[in-house]
Amino acid sequence: MPSPQFTKPWHGVPRDQIHWNPTILEDACIGCGTCVTGCSRLVYRFDFERKKPVVIDPLNCMVGCTTCANTCPTSAIEFPPIESVLALEGQAVVRHSVEDDLQQRHDLLAAPSSIPHPDHIVVLAVAAIERPTPEVLWLTLAPVKPGECFCEFTPGQYIELWEPESTHLSRSYSIANAPHGDGSIVLHIRRVDGGRFTAWAFDGMRVGDHLKARGPLGAFTMRTPATTPLLFIAGGTGLAPVLALIEQQVRFDALRDMVLLWGMRRSADFYALDALRTLLALAPGLHVRLVAELADDAAQASERMTFEAGTVLDALARNPTVLTGRDLYIAGPPAMLRDLTQALTAQGIDSRRLHIDSFGV
Ligand SMILES: Cc1cc2nc3c(=O)[nH]c(=O)nc-3n(C[C@H](O)[C@H](O)[C@H](O)COP(=O)(O)OP(=O)(O)OC[C@H]3O[C@@H](n4cnc5c(N)ncnc54)[C@H](O)[C@@H]3O)c2cc1C
Ligand code: SF4
Ligand code: SF4
Repeated sequence: MPSPQFTKPWHGVPRDQIHWNPTILEDACIGCGTCVTGCSRLVYRFDFERKKPVVIDPLNCMVGCTTCANTCPTSAIEFPPIESVLALEGQAVVRHSVEDDLQQRHDLLAAPSSIPHPDHIVVLAVAAIERPTPEVLWLTLAPVKPGECFCEFTPGQYIELWEPESTHLSRSYSIANAPHGDGSIVLHIRRVDGGRFTAWAFDGMRVGDHLKARGPLGAFTMRTPATTPLLFIAGGTGLAPVLALIEQQVRFDALRDMVLLWGMRRSADFYALDALRTLLALAPGLHVRLVAELADDAAQASERMTFEAGTVLDALARNPTVLTGRDLYIAGPPAMLRDLTQALTAQGIDSRRLHIDSFGV
């Protein structure tokens, strides 16, 4: 019988709705019994006559665990693809359940505060909040005290930001500018339906609020030799780290050959056209292609800023030569990144040319 101890909901999802259990490949199994005795959750029993393990209580299996498969000497145990579990982690119910669980079991789970750590944490003030479209916040943060800032960071990095009333509600946001010396940073925050942090950011954040921030974090930074042309691909607010990288390149070599493909759902969603026009004026080597799935005539095109319908994948398929000889820097929501990397890998693009910044699972 499945044990209630092991079959309780997994981060809010009923256990019987999750397909995660071992399957024995009988032809490969030599009947050593390691899986049976090694599993503490009584998933297996042993058929002593046939000398084979039997999966009797599959729901007892811990979601995501593959210990028995890892320790099987003949690789005779299979599991569903881990992507099925990662997909669950993309759901709000799972993310929020983990967050709540951490708080409820705070005393048990808290690491000793005496452990030294390298975090750089500062308090920043909300200096300006703009809403270029209803779905995006353009947020400017400034230092509160001199010297307590992210005055130096590498373009493409991100920070973690806390909601002021909460000790634990924090999310990551990419810095959308190169360092300006005064420690001010710009973030682009997209509204997420049912999202906890963005609900506060859109409805509760005020100019003058003080926010705890940690950073700079991340390795989505320029790693390409100065002579190699670049292709940036951004989905939604994935534009933020890409803008920082382009601003950096404009400072070093305004003539550098750069193409930006920026994908959005609707053409009215392109929230940073003025910033792009400013960069285009500074960088003769930059070309911008705006790509909207639901196209209308809201975006105003120009010689080096064109507008097309479809997805960024469609845009690449229409003009595959844009990939030739370029290093790629790609940022945005996980689903877009997954589709893009699959397509690019299938086209034989060397993974060393791909630099990817994912906004989530
Ligand atoms: C390194 C990094 C950099 C990031 N930079 C930015 C940025 O510059 N701008 C920005 O807007 N966001 C960025 N994000 C995403 C951001 O950290 C939050 O995940 C997002 O704002 C949602 O937070 P929330 O609390 O409102 O939603 P949650 O309460 O955490 O989640 C609600 C639901 O929305 C889903 N969800 C969470 N994030 C996304 C997303 N990005 N796209 C689609 N669905 C999502 C969750 O899986 C969940 O199902 C970045 C994430 C990472 C890891
Ligand atoms: S560990 Fe592998 S070989 Fe040993 S009984 Fe289990 S499945 Fe068979
Ligand atoms: S994966 Fe882990 S929990 Fe599941 S059967 Fe194997 S050892 Fe047991």
